Amino acid sequence: EASEKRLADRMGRSFELREAARATLAGGVASSWQDAEPGAIWIERGEGGRVRDADGTEYVDLHGGFGANLAGHAHPAIVGAVERRVRLGTHFGLPTEDLIAVSRLLAERFGLPLWRFGNSGTEATMDAVHLMRVATGRKKIIKVEGAYHGHHDSVQVSTFPLPERGDIGPDHRPCSVPSGPAYLPEFADLTLAVPFGDIDAVRTALEENPDSVAGMIVEPVMLNIGVVLPPPGYLAALRDLLHAHGAYLAYDEVKTGLAVAPGGAAELLGVTPDLVCLAKALGGGLPCGAIGGTAALMELIADNTYQQVGTFNGNPMTMAAARAMLTEVLTPGAYAHLEALRTTIVTGVSELMARYGIPGHVVSAGAKGAVVFTDRLRDYRDFLRSPAPWRRAHWLYQVGGGVLLPSWGKSEQFTLSVQHTRDDVRRYVANFERLCRDVR
Ligand code: PLP
Repeated sequence: EASEKRLADRMGRSFELREAARATLAGGVASSWQDAEPGAIWIERGEGGRVRDADGTEYVDLHGGFGANLAGHAHPAIVGAVERRVRLGTHFGLPTEDLIAVSRLLAERFGLPLWRFGNSGTEATMDAVHLMRVATGRKKIIKVEGAYHGHHDSVQVSTFPLPERGDIGPDHRPCSVPSGPAYLPEFADLTLAVPFGDIDAVRTALEENPDSVAGMIVEPVMLNIGVVLPPPGYLAALRDLLHAHGAYLAYDEVKTGLAVAPGGAAELLGVTPDLVCLAKALGGGLPCGAIGGTAALMELIADNTYQQVGTFNGNPMTMAAARAMLTEVLTPGAYAHLEALRTTIVTGVSELMARYGIPGHVVSAGAKGAVVFTDRLRDYRDFLRSPAPWRRAHWLYQVGGGVLLPSWGKSEQFTLSVQHTRDDVRRYVANFERLCRDVR
């Protein structure tokens, strides 16, 4: 409580802005997840690995704009690319040459030959679902319980299911509930939710719905509930199983893409799916989305069977920034630097947990990681069982200690950027030590 009060005491300007905003901005924020206890921290500027808030407090930014800021803030390569482009015109609704470079670079990194662009992760996963339906002529899809893939109807199913609402069945059987009153039960009936990592549940869903499942969308490393690595062999088994049933596998790499390895989780885990959805980091801080796929699937876009459209698709600003990301920011040296930062956090926090007897462990993949206060985190049901007081205290000690993280209970992982320094991540470890000392 003392930590919470200290944090609230230095958020005066943020609270004032929030009140002022509420008059004309629904809920006082631009997106519902920006608001969280004790209130959104309003940001004034960002530079390198840090941000400064409206009260003048500086934070090491491991929130990363919901995991999008792999470049950090105002990276010179992004600033240069965007400055050059803005003078040449920002939007035409017609292609510009950067599109060729960006799609080529993504094809090389992800091992999928053809790409299209959009403006958000939501659009990318929506395109993936549409494409799998068009390719198969089937209506149903499979998704993972507790996984967030954006806010379109087909995937707003069992994203935050709660046992007390009766959203979760007594066993691991598919239990699909709309994620709130905006989402129709008719859609939930077409989306089969399964637990992460459970190949048998997918097999059952396929067998109980013969010839009606178009495909499965899955985050190869499950994020938003901490960081959950797939069990060995899971992704390869999924691909084989889906293909055996005439269905497709789509990875939602909106968070993992470019962040866990140059070619995303597809490269890290060695299993290339039929479709990959990207967004977040690709745009270097500008809004973006992308979908890549096999020649057979993407041909359905090329021949207009599925019209993948959008006024701002392939926007010149975003493409200029994405090209700079892929060529100048996310270099082999940058990945080595991210790895060194990750190791500093993982080693530091693991040692502290052992020394102070704190239950749990650190899970990480590339630029993403999370401290998990439970010995096993395999799926969403484990996440619900992981103790909320620990997660809340962790968030408070980090944010109170000058390390910005996504709100606890919502996203729960840190994102490193190429501009973070060893000192930045040492601050995370030092805050963690204060937490251990105070709790033990
Ligand atoms: N997929 C995943 C895994 C995400 O984490 C998110 C957003 O947080 C999305 C999709 C949706 O992306 P966007 O917010 O750009 O629509």
